[in-house]
Amino acid sequence: MWPAPNSNSAKIFNRAMEVLPGGISRLLTWVDPYPIYAKRGEGGYIEDEDGIRRLDLMNNFASLIHGHAHPQIVSAVTQAVANGSCFAFPAEREIQLAELLQDRIASVDKVRFCNSGTEAIMIALKAARARTGRSRIAKIEGAYHGMYDHAEVSLDSRPDNWGNSPASIPHTYGTPKSVLEDTLVLPLNEPIETERLLRSQAESLAAVLIDPVPTKVGMIEMTAEYIDVIQKVARDIGALIIVDEVIAFRLAYEGAQARYGIEPDLTTFAKIIGGGFPVGAICGKDDTMAVFSHENGEPLNPSSGTFTGNPVSMAAGLATMKLLTREAYEGLEMMGERSRKAIRRAFEASRRRGQVTGVGAMFQIHFNDRSLTDFRTAFRTEEENAISKQVHRGLLDRGFILSPRCSGFLSTVNTEQEIDDLEIALTETLQETAV
Ligand code: PMP
Repeated sequence: MWPAPNSNSAKIFNRAMEVLPGGISRLLTWVDPYPIYAKRGEGGYIEDEDGIRRLDLMNNFASLIHGHAHPQIVSAVTQAVANGSCFAFPAEREIQLAELLQDRIASVDKVRFCNSGTEAIMIALKAARARTGRSRIAKIEGAYHGMYDHAEVSLDSRPDNWGNSPASIPHTYGTPKSVLEDTLVLPLNEPIETERLLRSQAESLAAVLIDPVPTKVGMIEMTAEYIDVIQKVARDIGALIIVDEVIAFRLAYEGAQARYGIEPDLTTFAKIIGGGFPVGAICGKDDTMAVFSHENGEPLNPSSGTFTGNPVSMAAGLATMKLLTREAYEGLEMMGERSRKAIRRAFEASRRRGQVTGVGAMFQIHFNDRSLTDFRTAFRTEEENAISKQVHRGLLDRGFILSPRCSGFLSTVNTEQEIDDLEIALTETLQETAV
């Protein structure tokens, strides 16, 4: 059951309404009528303020990869904090984490740290503009890349406004018209239309921003053909390719770019590389990353930030990434496959309509049997949204936390038994769901 009106969660929320707009700090986590408040996390589990323990398959929207309070990460962080949490001097740990990224990922010669995925995307787009002297960027319809103006265009496209070829739709009221004009929106997995659109702005495009498995676009993989076309055309017209691995880095030891055969000019990371602490990074080859360097005078793209490369995030990220060995990635892959099979079996057993997308240790449940290829085919009807809400709640009642859109991001501490239990819980939940 949802925490009752006299529960601790409800009481905390009443106080929250007095100090936070709508009672929250983060829209993505909102659930009606009020959130369940977390008290503590341990391993795969979160205990809420009313003492209820649930298996956390959301992992703070893919930012934890070893569950909560992993002892080695806690120890690294505790040590770092005890030695002072931030300085206006650089500290060695940022170099260690940068070295790790450089070792693992072929396209990384240099790294610039920042504090979030949003910042990483913003800075990468500015870097691309600085490098090319052009202003426009292209992105995939519906893809989430954080809150920077251009990156959030078309997040909320709907059938009544998305147009034939994707229109640039504002996400925030008051978005300047110039932002919409400077953002070209591409249809996922439609190579012919995408090539036409990119070539139509050949002179003015600074960058093409892609995520090989855009989670808000139904967690549908980019096809090899689509990736080929983007790479070929971007090179042809002199636009940079930016790969957003804020989430996708959890898909492969050498980066999702290795898994999908992408050779980016710039890559953005965040989430797991901060081990549960705020972080972001922009990475790339020497020639592109030179825009950040002051070596020859004022950098083309001056970037800075008070908490950039702070020792605590760096320590947590380093400990996390060291634990994320090739074997750990293999384990995640297997568990992801197991979870997708479990979800398919739950649909079969409950005789409900549905399917699952995803790759590696992440999955997204859909309540339809359409062929899913892009944002438009994955776009949910009102009925599908209503079912999704019921399933999300039914699973919470049974002790499983998925994202409100019924997606999951597994961690290395999840067990096969937990996935088997998820199958049972999902089957029961689907059976009681009115479809
Ligand atoms: N890019 C992608 C692919 C993301 O999923 C997110 C966040 N979910 C971001 C960028 C923004 O990251 P942050 O929330 O750290 O600003």
